[in-house]
Amino acid sequence: SSDLGTPEQIRKFVTPTCSGETKMCFAITEPNAGTNSFAMSTLATRNDAGGWTLNGQKVFISGARDADHMLVVARTTKASEVKQRTEGMSLFVLDMKTPGIKLTQLNIQVETAERQYLVFFDNVELPADALIGEAGKGAKLMFVGLNSERLLAAGAAIGLGDYALAKAVAYSMDRKPFGKPIGSYQALQHRMAQAKAQLEAARLMTYNAAERFDAGEDAGAHANMAKLLGSQAAVAAVDVALQTHGGYGFDRDYDIVTLWPMVRLMEIAPINNEMLLNYIGEHVLGLPKSY
Ligand SMILES: Cc1cc2nc3c(=O)[nH]c(=O)nc-3n(C[C@H](O)[C@H](O)[C@H](O)COP(=O)(O)OP(=O)(O)OC[C@H]3O[C@@H](n4cnc5c(N)ncnc54)[C@H](O)[C@@H]3O)c2cc1C
Repeated sequence: SSDLGTPEQIRKFVTPTCSGETKMCFAITEPNAGTNSFAMSTLATRNDAGGWTLNGQKVFISGARDADHMLVVARTTKASEVKQRTEGMSLFVLDMKTPGIKLTQLNIQVETAERQYLVFFDNVELPADALIGEAGKGAKLMFVGLNSERLLAAGAAIGLGDYALAKAVAYSMDRKPFGKPIGSYQALQHRMAQAKAQLEAARLMTYNAAERFDAGEDAGAHANMAKLLGSQAAVAAVDVALQTHGGYGFDRDYDIVTLWPMVRLMEIAPINNEMLLNYIGEHVLGLPKSY
């Protein structure tokens, strides 16, 4: 849909990102707003040149230093000046070489290729065509991206869970401190079986949500459930892999403990599981909002 970018924006930013020629990072999280994205204070105001001036800060932005472009969610109307919290949000794509962008690397312990950054925008001047879609109507566009991001997170979590569980199974067949493989002990075997069942259930939910997304349906509830179940299944799988490996699980060279920060993070980011439960409670079950 043209709401999601003009043909020119797609040509300039999306096509080279998909082909790997350029890199894009995504910036929504702010130090003060945190999970409450609608409370963000990064503000873009119209400038005399017909473009925008961006001020504010973002935190935890993955890969910002290596990125050529950033997709940034900002307010074009302050949160205090809109009737509905979802109004006044806008999406911009900016060139990371634009003057006024400052990055500070954070000291995050997860095993990923990219690092995270605190990003400052100090009077960053953006051209008019940096805006995606209509000013103030970015919230709806944002959720198209966020639902697919949740599916990606579910897929990544399930993949990590599969990897950890396969290692647990293989190790438990070999390891025989009492003469029999530890994989024959139900204390371990049942936990591995439980993790397997959780992973398969999460996989089905993820495929189901992906089908809905591809069919153009509202995939919000299912994408949220997929990310919730996927991250929990991954935690269960890495946890039993750690248990199975005993002390060796904590040797980085066995590549089990190295997975732990990542799978635990997946219960918290890109969105914490509590918010997913809130969504299911409110929007699927029709219960009152709790926060
Ligand atoms: C390695 C890493 C990479 C990241 N990459 C990016 C990125 O590329 N771009 C980006 O924009 N952001 C990124 N993030 C940020 C990430 O999305 C946020 O950290 C996450 O959404 C949680 O926000 P917060 O840390 O401010 O937690 P807070 O909002 O402070 O929440 C803290 C905890 O409180 C609980 N909580 C909060 N609100 C509620 C509620 N309403 N109901 C119940 N419980 C609640 C949850 O348990 C939550 O974990 C990244 C973070 C990390 C650590």
